Amino acid sequence: MGDLKQASLLQQIKIVLCQTSHPGNIGAAARAMKTMGLQQLVLVQPKEFPSQEALARSSGALDILDNAQVVSSLQEAVEDCRLVIGTSSRSRTLPWPMVEPREIKNIIEKEPSALPMAIVFGRESSGLLNEELQLCHYHVNIPANPDYMSLNLAAAVQVICYECRLLALQQESSLHSGAEVDSEADDSERKATIQQTEGLYQHLENVMIETGFFDPQEPKLLPARLHRLLAKAQLTEAEVNILRGFLASMNKHIKYHTVNKESGEL
Ligand code: SAH
Repeated sequence: MGDLKQASLLQQIKIVLCQTSHPGNIGAAARAMKTMGLQQLVLVQPKEFPSQEALARSSGALDILDNAQVVSSLQEAVEDCRLVIGTSSRSRTLPWPMVEPREIKNIIEKEPSALPMAIVFGRESSGLLNEELQLCHYHVNIPANPDYMSLNLAAAVQVICYECRLLALQQESSLHSGAEVDSEADDSERKATIQQTEGLYQHLENVMIETGFFDPQEPKLLPARLHRLLAKAQLTEAEVNILRGFLASMNKHIKYHTVNKESGEL
């Protein structure tokens, strides 16, 4: 145990719990994480934390609870992440790239430049909100009994963390057998972080408002569809920079035309 590669992969996976109502579930999730070697717990507006019940249910995973980060929004929890996977026990109105827990392994393996990453879990009562799911590149569903799909929150955390551990173990054994694990990507080819992609989204939306293409009073499904497009594209930092450069040139163009129109020169 303690192999560096395994540690670094599992250390770069954040488990994010959104507005958990029962502190016992936070403790049980911390225990589930620790048994699988994950360490980073982030809590978005937990109803009660710190809490004695969380401590009791963590059964000794105190370090995870002590180091848990508490934040006020999902955006804040994942802004430095290059890959975000949301968990959901049911399908939503707008279909999204959907995977089974086992495929998480393949996704991380295919995209070593997508770390750090986050796996996001919803409220016990109502799961994740649509706008939270729209921040995610993939949605993962644990294929449970169709008549009884909803696992306890900490049980869902356990299943997902187990899959992450399998990948870490597999990487460790390929390292020992001398196989190459490509984890260093050329900087500009790194996947963009959520903060960079959201910056691009905001810029795109502003230009669309300026040109009259998008009416924020009547958004319909446009913001959700654009978020899905960006999530599917999984842009690199270089691609985000190109698109933002183009949008900045559009801003200049619009300003030039507006000023000249106002002064009657056009
Ligand atoms: N009643 C809620 C279920 C919440 S269960 C709903 O209808 O959405 C609490 C959380 O556990 C979920 O938000 C999800 O993060 C996770 N979870 C529970 N069952 C799951 C499943 N079958 N697949 C993936 N995640 C699941």
